[in-house]
Amino acid sequence: MNSIHTDVAIFGGGIAGLWSLATLRQTGYRAMLFERNVLGGGQSIASQGIIHGGTKYALTGNLTDSSQAIAQMPAVWRACLQGQGAVDLSAVQILSNHQYLWTSASLTSNLAGFFASKVMRSRIRQIPRAEFPEPFNHSGFRGDLYRLEEPVLNTATLIQALATPYLAYCRQLSATHFQRQDNHWLIHLPSGQTLQANHLLLTAGSGNAELLTQLGHSQPAMQRRPLHMIMVKGDLPPLYAHCLGAGALPKLTITSDITPDNQTVWYVGGKVAEASVECSADQQMMTAQKTLQDTLPWLNLTQAEWGVFTIYRAEPRMPNNQRPSDCFIHQQDQIITAWPTKLALAPRLADKLLEYLPPPGEHPPEIPVQLPTPPMAQQPWYGNIPWS
Ligand SMILES: Cc1cc2nc3c(=O)[nH]c(=O)nc-3n(C[C@H](O)[C@H](O)[C@H](O)COP(=O)(O)OP(=O)(O)OC[C@H]3O[C@@H](n4cnc5c(N)ncnc54)[C@H](O)[C@@H]3O)c2cc1C
Repeated sequence: MNSIHTDVAIFGGGIAGLWSLATLRQTGYRAMLFERNVLGGGQSIASQGIIHGGTKYALTGNLTDSSQAIAQMPAVWRACLQGQGAVDLSAVQILSNHQYLWTSASLTSNLAGFFASKVMRSRIRQIPRAEFPEPFNHSGFRGDLYRLEEPVLNTATLIQALATPYLAYCRQLSATHFQRQDNHWLIHLPSGQTLQANHLLLTAGSGNAELLTQLGHSQPAMQRRPLHMIMVKGDLPPLYAHCLGAGALPKLTITSDITPDNQTVWYVGGKVAEASVECSADQQMMTAQKTLQDTLPWLNLTQAEWGVFTIYRAEPRMPNNQRPSDCFIHQQDQIITAWPTKLALAPRLADKLLEYLPPPGEHPPEIPVQLPTPPMAQQPWYGNIPWS
């Protein structure tokens, strides 16, 4: 049998595609996911794995649109992590159940009002000096430390936990040929099979623009924001923390992983990773080195190895390149284009997706697609990064 029918053909196996696949299949839809490369291999594996509840976005002292859309997300994820939510994430490694926010001595006074505000008091707890963890338990640290109850996840185990139950419906497909016929889409597969899809779901991150062009559409427009993420490997304490600077964005956001040879990798984002056109990845790494050394001067980083990795955040285009405050879905010609805009918003995106589809119907047993299963991604520091 050369013709296969499906309700939704998903393109892109990052967090958005995988969470959507799980949701659609659990709701009774026929859904297939096609990944060009490796599952999770775009932004999702490279993300810092922080399940934000919006506090980071309230750093100006106000609850913005961003923080309200995302406020429920830690609770939604915690239920899944406990095996009691919409998808079972009980196999995901929780790297930390909380993050720290720290301020330098000079900033503390400026931010005193912000930390005293009602909204912040309900979200964060100030840590007494006697309880400071490493690397803040040093006489050289003069700032303040706060604890924020938002989890940080190992992104490789997240991709594995989401994909594993649905691997039979995930296939590797490097190039796609679409054809519109009547009220559905035909996809001619290299296996010689033809897939007839009622809807296409584009969750290809940066790849969405190319897929839309192939499908003859220029909308919705996409923006890509480059980041030069810094990696520091060595004998370091595991750290999940944001260093607050003067602006709305943390100066540094550090998450950690322990390698099999028992070294810690600090994965450093935040303002220091926001790439500018004028600044090369190497220049950016030097700036990050200086910022880290200035911020935690008692830490000896002379033996540490350094790496840098460039990745783009893909989002719907916003006026003045602003950051979107919520997940995004757009539909035309039975093509649904989606960007979660944050890992944390993937469950919200998948729930909203159901509003764009007719209810699932009865269908005969599905015929397997004869293409390879895509492998799963590993974090950037396990790839071919030159360390210096
Ligand atoms: C450095 C960094 C740190 C981040 N940290 C956080 C964080 O801590 N918390 C948070 O909430 N968010 C974070 N984010 C944002 C979050 O990672 C993204 O919003 C989210 O992962 C996007 O998921 P996605 O599935 O849309 O895209 P992606 O993860 O990019 O997945 C897209 C997939 O589509 C595939 N693909 C591309 N083209 C095609 C095609 N033609 N056919 C088939 N497949 C295709 C790609 O290979 C890829 O696997 C971070 C982002 C970055 C870059």
